[in-house]
Amino acid sequence: MLTNISGIGPKTIKNLQKLAINNIDELVNHFPFRYEVLQKTNLNEEKSIVEGEIITSPTVYYFSYQKNILKFQAIIDGKKINVDIYNRAFLKMRLKKGVVITIIGKYNRYKNTLVASEIIFGRIPEKNNITPIYHQTAQLSNKKLVKLIKEALLQYDFFSYLPEDVEKEFNLIDKKTALWEIHFPSNEENLEKARLRLKYEELFVFMLKINYLRENKTKQGLEREVAKKQVLDYIKTLPFSLTEDQEKVWQEVYQDLVSKQRMNRLLQGDVGSGKTLVAIIAAYINYLGGYKSAVMVPTEVLANQHYQTFLEYLPNLKIALLTSSTKNKEKIKEKIAAGEVDVIIGTHALITTDVNFNNLGLVVTDEQHRFGVNQRKNLINKGTLPDVLYMSATPIPRTYALTIYGDMDISSIKTMPANRQKVATYVKTMKELKTVLSMMYQELLANHQIYVIAPLIEESDKSELESAQEIYDNMQKAFGVKYKIGLLHGRLKSIEKVNIMQQFQANKIQILVSTTVVEVGVDVANATMMVVYNSQMFGLATLHQLRGRVGRSEYPSKCVLLANEKTARLQILEKSNDGFVISEEDFKLRGGGDLFGHLQSGDMKFKIADIKEDYKLLVKMKEISAEYLHKKNQEPIIKKILSEVKKLA
Ligand code: ADP
Ligand code: MG
Repeated sequence: MLTNISGIGPKTIKNLQKLAINNIDELVNHFPFRYEVLQKTNLNEEKSIVEGEIITSPTVYYFSYQKNILKFQAIIDGKKINVDIYNRAFLKMRLKKGVVITIIGKYNRYKNTLVASEIIFGRIPEKNNITPIYHQTAQLSNKKLVKLIKEALLQYDFFSYLPEDVEKEFNLIDKKTALWEIHFPSNEENLEKARLRLKYEELFVFMLKINYLRENKTKQGLEREVAKKQVLDYIKTLPFSLTEDQEKVWQEVYQDLVSKQRMNRLLQGDVGSGKTLVAIIAAYINYLGGYKSAVMVPTEVLANQHYQTFLEYLPNLKIALLTSSTKNKEKIKEKIAAGEVDVIIGTHALITTDVNFNNLGLVVTDEQHRFGVNQRKNLINKGTLPDVLYMSATPIPRTYALTIYGDMDISSIKTMPANRQKVATYVKTMKELKTVLSMMYQELLANHQIYVIAPLIEESDKSELESAQEIYDNMQKAFGVKYKIGLLHGRLKSIEKVNIMQQFQANKIQILVSTTVVEVGVDVANATMMVVYNSQMFGLATLHQLRGRVGRSEYPSKCVLLANEKTARLQILEKSNDGFVISEEDFKLRGGGDLFGHLQSGDMKFKIADIKEDYKLLVKMKEISAEYLHKKNQEPIIKKILSEVKKLA
């Protein structure tokens, strides 16, 4: 219980929740994201770290409620210096003449004054004094977090998920030491040891779960009687012939669906490779088998788009859309419950508890990395062991996929539809903006449309909106007389987003300025150009996925990546249009690359391990955990981990 820790009241509880900390366990596992090393400096105006001996008793001046300044003099480096501290009048009692303190602050030479941001009693420690820096919120300072975590560690019941044998075999430090050292390192070497220990543990647990899921996945699922001929007849009605890989993959899915074995399949393929069509065929097979399908997508825009596509390709089925902005929700829910909907397409709204499926046989999740295990599980639990198809447009190299998605079967679509154009890609610096604008003008003259992607900004979404607005204004200045510009961002209501997308689709808007909310799955064939601002901020997989919005017709398409400089990393995109190649290259160049970022938003949230850097370790843990799963599965640690994973299976 968090409330057992002194200094935690209702307010702090709320602030901790903002950091996803809901209990002591999560608090002690809130690791620093960096460390600050206390080392003596000279007096300077940037950041001075100095020792001083107090020579005058402090005086406090109040200038309003809770605003005050505390002043005293100290001898620092043999000189008499004024020290000011704001709003910490309470320190007065302890800052006595003769006391030696360490001061961190900014020194103003002209006023001979050191404005302290931090006071530490005593001298600078001889050895490196490493201070942890945590992710914080405005209301929860680093200092407070340090204090809370120290308290929490004092009462924490250190449970190791790593078997003692493994600890010994690899010469690792124990859990308790590791947790203390990761928060409050005594020196860099011990910090490294702590990191290593926690990585082993994290990867051991992860691989044990994956191994367990893999071995227990051959659960019996639904069996359907559907003649292949029926499916082939349907495929003949499509306006195009399937690509080689689409052909291969639908047959794999078909096999899964008609056989007793439950499908748990990941379908990887670039944007535009035609995964949606495979999902449609799967839903059709499921329908022929007498079951209902649910398709879950991460955004409203995408849900709408899929809805239209399913309506178009499955005109004889009853298709419904359910998102948070759907108007007659209750009616649709009733229909779903009554079994009157063959395919329901929706966002997270689908997993709210009051949606009751009747005879759900197939769950498709698009862009699966966006859903956590729990969300997927919720949806799956709405049917009795439905078959599951996960689709992802962020392909990852097969070796990695086999390890981290080890519990799934994997299908890949690598061949692109024949009419698919290679998107000519150019990395340009802001100095070349004029050239870029004239490229845009050429496209507009040819009656084509353009996406402009506003930069990704990390600090706050407010500034992201501002920068999108700024780009919108500039586009307005450059092209606004002749062309209509639209602005799409996360702050808009979903209905407004859908409305803008529809205008873009109908070519009522020619230039669509957007934050990355349009990242996934939008299909506007007449859009032939994309310009991405600050592209250095994005991962390659994301850029590649973004770029997949264009090149969706027979027209040649381009993508301009505006960046602060032309880096080898961005230039990978100039050279390749193959998501599999790009992810491989990105892996080589950047370690985990985008994958890590994507996994972070999904269920593979590694706290401390890095999938690329620690891949060998991961493989090692794969073997070792398999051994524990088979021979030592009665050990309490293993039982505990498995009880968690059984909840997920
Ligand atoms: P993904 O979901 O993989 O991003 P989509 O399924 O949305 O890709 O397909 C992109 C576009 O390609 C759609 O307009 C779709 O109609 C079209 N398409 C899909 N398969 C084929 C094919 N075999 N031949 C021609 N066009 C196809
Ligand atoms: Mg798609």
